[in-house]
Amino acid sequence: MFRAVFGESIVARGIKAGLLEIDCHQIRDYTENKQGKVDDYPYGGGPGLVMSYQPVKSAYEAVLRDHLAEDGRKPYTIYMSPQGTPFDQKTARRLADMDRLVIICGHYEGIDERVIDDIVDEEISMGDFVLTGGEIPAMAVADCIARLVPGVLASSEAYENESHSDILLEYAQYTRPEVIGDRKVPEVLLKGNHGDIEKWRLDNSIERTRVKRFDLYEKYQKRSREESTFYFDNSATTRQRDEITRVMNDVCDRLYGNPSSLHRMGFQAEKELTAARNKLLELIGGTGFGKLYFTSGATEANNWVFRSILPANPRLGRHVLVSAVEHPSVNESALSMRDAGYEIEAIPVDSDGRVNLDKLTELIRPDDTALVSVMHVNNETGAIQPIEEIVKLVRKLRPGALIHCDCVQSFGKLPVDVKKMGVDLISVSAHKIHGPRGIGFLYAGKDVKLRPLLYGGGQEGGERSGTENLPAICGMAAAAGLVCENIEANYLKAVKMRNIFKEALTGSIRACSVNTPEEGSSPYVLNVSFPGLRAEVILHTLENYGIYVSVGSACSSHKKNRSSVLTAMGVGKSSIDGAIRISFSPDNTEEQCVYASKILVTEIKKLYAIHSRARKNSAGQ
Ligand code: SAM
Repeated sequence: MFRAVFGESIVARGIKAGLLEIDCHQIRDYTENKQGKVDDYPYGGGPGLVMSYQPVKSAYEAVLRDHLAEDGRKPYTIYMSPQGTPFDQKTARRLADMDRLVIICGHYEGIDERVIDDIVDEEISMGDFVLTGGEIPAMAVADCIARLVPGVLASSEAYENESHSDILLEYAQYTRPEVIGDRKVPEVLLKGNHGDIEKWRLDNSIERTRVKRFDLYEKYQKRSREESTFYFDNSATTRQRDEITRVMNDVCDRLYGNPSSLHRMGFQAEKELTAARNKLLELIGGTGFGKLYFTSGATEANNWVFRSILPANPRLGRHVLVSAVEHPSVNESALSMRDAGYEIEAIPVDSDGRVNLDKLTELIRPDDTALVSVMHVNNETGAIQPIEEIVKLVRKLRPGALIHCDCVQSFGKLPVDVKKMGVDLISVSAHKIHGPRGIGFLYAGKDVKLRPLLYGGGQEGGERSGTENLPAICGMAAAAGLVCENIEANYLKAVKMRNIFKEALTGSIRACSVNTPEEGSSPYVLNVSFPGLRAEVILHTLENYGIYVSVGSACSSHKKNRSSVLTAMGVGKSSIDGAIRISFSPDNTEEQCVYASKILVTEIKKLYAIHSRARKNSAGQ
């Protein structure tokens, strides 16, 4: 069989030229029984015969005697099997790089499993169908690898642009005659313009792939999108990772029982729910110290704190302190409590956007402050608040007050440990860490007296009703696991990426000022101002290059008023109007940052040139 195939055409020429060597070994020659038997009945009964251990192993050892590498390494060994990984061009390329391969062909029902255990490095399949033996698959594999060996084909171009060399299928091919019946070779291929021909071929490849292999077309589209998108708005939201989507799909498929149901499916769902809760609790250092309640996101968690937990503790007082740079979901829900008789005061910040501890000392009322809320990392500037110092101060001056910390921008990026921080309540959201939207949690210390915001079926221990969104909860736990596992490496990468932008911008544009504090800030956020320019114009200019940044914070950018965060820091109006936020994720690369920062510098210079011409013109009028 093998001689017939490899004695012809391209492979035969490769062998003749000394580029390839293909040896075939007859397993039957290695049997130790007189009848030359290589097979036997399967244990446990059933149809067919199974190739025995001894002849295959002996044949393999004989091959090894001739083919061990100088350093004693054995050749990479493949078993052709319908149970193996489907063969593809990528595998062929990998195997073509090896100097020696042994391919074992099975027959009948296959070979004794112990042969596979002992000698096989990889099982490869021809596809999801069953042939009578491994010979034809072995020939196909050997043929495919052979044409990748340098020199076997006349030109490497022949396989470099072929179907499956990348993602797309190859374009349509034509040869003489030019006209067959009423069908003519496409005009562009006859004109000799290489640029046009290349373009036609690419378009044709894309279209053929769409029609013939939609799965590959989708893959191509996804990669093209990724290659042309430079997403630096990760503080607003992040792209949900594919592995998280897979986790969620799996939960949708398998665990669709309601965790509250009493049957087995409900129990299984509840088990996953508990596992996700425990994992998240552990990641925030809260195991044994408090409870974690799933919410629809941090906005709900923040509203819960002010609108329901605060009034559930009337003895604590009526005075509430929130930092002057909080997210609107904290600020607005705090202010909404004025109608209920609460007095809400803002804690001023210094020019770095950090809570002024002297002012906080003055503001705390030893007999009336019920709640203090300060975020961990600012969403607009990245400034890190001195939470531990704030907690110390509050505990000293007003020991009973509740302390809440919005950790949306810090969780998964900086260490968040509720024990160490000493806070009573924290809010977290999943979509800032490549998890799903619409899910988050509120952590509450053991001693915090709760009252639900949402009433109903009594889920979450009666504290937050509504059927638990298990796919999203499991997605959040998985996403949190991924970011927390790599917190240090991701942090260092973010520092490098932020510095690329910072150095490019401050080094090339004199007017540029940095609103993110030099020290004590999260490297995931860089807020810069270009006074005199309008941030919206910068944003839309960058968009044309596939670069996405933000104007202020995403939650407030639809509002027309100036950023309250930058205002509280004392940033001038013109600088606020020209402030953009560039925010990073571990999915960004340094190359993306180099590219995007160069574009940004060029475009800002152009905008300033237009701006100064316009000013000169209006001065001359
Ligand atoms: N009983 C085996 C099973 O169900 O997985 C199938 C054995 S098959 C009839 C006999 C031999 O043909 C296999 O041991 C294997 O070497 C080869 N073979 C059959 N189909 C194959 C495929 N799709 N890819 C690679 N090898 C295959």
